[in-house]
Amino acid sequence: MTLAQLLVVQVHDTAIDRLTHSLTTLPEFAALTALDDEQAYLVAERALVAEQRHQVEREQKRHEDEAGLVTARIDKENLRLYDGSVAGHKELTSIQDELTTLNRRRAEFEDQVLEAMEAGEPLDAALGEFDDKLASVETRREQATESLAASQASIKAEIESEQAQRVEAVAPIAPALVEVYEQTRADCGGVGICKLIDKTCQGCHLSLPAVEYDRIRKEPDETIVRCGECNRILVR
Ligand SMILES: [Zn+2]
Repeated sequence: MTLAQLLVVQVHDTAIDRLTHSLTTLPEFAALTALDDEQAYLVAERALVAEQRHQVEREQKRHEDEAGLVTARIDKENLRLYDGSVAGHKELTSIQDELTTLNRRRAEFEDQVLEAMEAGEPLDAALGEFDDKLASVETRREQATESLAASQASIKAEIESEQAQRVEAVAPIAPALVEVYEQTRADCGGVGICKLIDKTCQGCHLSLPAVEYDRIRKEPDETIVRCGECNRILVR
């Protein structure tokens, strides 16, 4: 009777072990690790595109500055052309030629500014996509974190319930016997006591030799008998 009661304790201990282990293997942990990896990848890829974007921006600025310098020179030449300070035909023609050249150069720089702006557009779009994906990672991380907390709370509640039931189950058993059980459980990978069904130990699933089985059967009910193979306490 007492050994059968120990079997009830074992059921709760097994449940507590299983639940405690499940706390460390919750799928949310793997999900969170995968999200960390995804985020690290996106951050690295985004940095590459951002560097390209900065390069294009620097080029655009350089062409704008170049166009600005040419414009300043054009303004200066225009002033000379119309302020009456230059009267010689030859010199006026030379200024007009210079202006033609300067206007052509400015148009080239302005084209380069436009090219840089166009080159920046797909890069801006790509950066926007990265930001959306990173925001999605954050959303999923929040969900996984909430789900993890809920799973942990639920498992901890189950563990507490099992522990309370174990306290009740162990109460009527002699402390010395509980100690023997605890030691056997520690030595035998968590299962210290098990049933003997059809001459088979339910702990290691090996059949007892006939002679051994006969010997065990003749022992008094409360004598502790063990499996010769795995050493677990057997409940007949
Ligand atoms: Zn066994």
